[in-house]
Amino acid sequence: MRGPYREQQTEGRRLEPDPAARRKVRLAGLTTAALGVGIGATAPMLGSLAAAFGGGLALLGLVLYREAPKSPMKAACPTCGATIAELDPTTDAVRCPTCGDYARVMSGLLAAVPHDFVAREPLFAIPLELALFGLPAICAECGAPDARHLVRVVVSVHGTPLAVDTPAEVVEIPHCREHDSGAAADIGTVRVRSRELAIEAEARAVPARLSDDERRG
Ligand SMILES: [Zn+2]
Ligand SMILES: [Zn+2]
Repeated sequence: MRGPYREQQTEGRRLEPDPAARRKVRLAGLTTAALGVGIGATAPMLGSLAAAFGGGLALLGLVLYREAPKSPMKAACPTCGATIAELDPTTDAVRCPTCGDYARVMSGLLAAVPHDFVAREPLFAIPLELALFGLPAICAECGAPDARHLVRVVVSVHGTPLAVDTPAEVVEIPHCREHDSGAAADIGTVRVRSRELAIEAEARAVPARLSDDERRG
């Protein structure tokens, strides 16, 4: 490939295999296979169960080794240019660990996410503080405007959601008449499918709210 660092900004950044990540998976595969063969070899002493277990491990190791070349990719973030490593080419969007923006994964490219994009799963994070303010009337599942149907989602404030005494808040997430499952709770955040809802929620943060109220009054 020529000039991966040349101006490809507008069209999206090409995905490349991530050799570092692949090596990790391959190593895991080989280690698992070797362990399996080792257990299998000592089987006469340990009995047939150990032999079967060893054989299974060896197989698993080989599968891991063979799967490795396909999976992890890397590409430059369309927003900040930093490398996003170990990304799954089958997912529809990823978050850049450097700038926090999202990028869309499509036909071998990493591209900027359009405002009206809707992810296959709840993905775009809205911080709990913003969600508690009340969100703009945009459907979390399809991005339709004038979404007045509120779906309640329980969000753990921090810690693990499994702990009994984890503090939680209930937030109301807008949906249109046809939808009710465009949001999912994460720790300290709500994830939604509609990119536009997440963007508008951010835009509504304190300063914008104040000027809105002033305009109305
Ligand atoms: Zn970035
Ligand atoms: Zn909808």
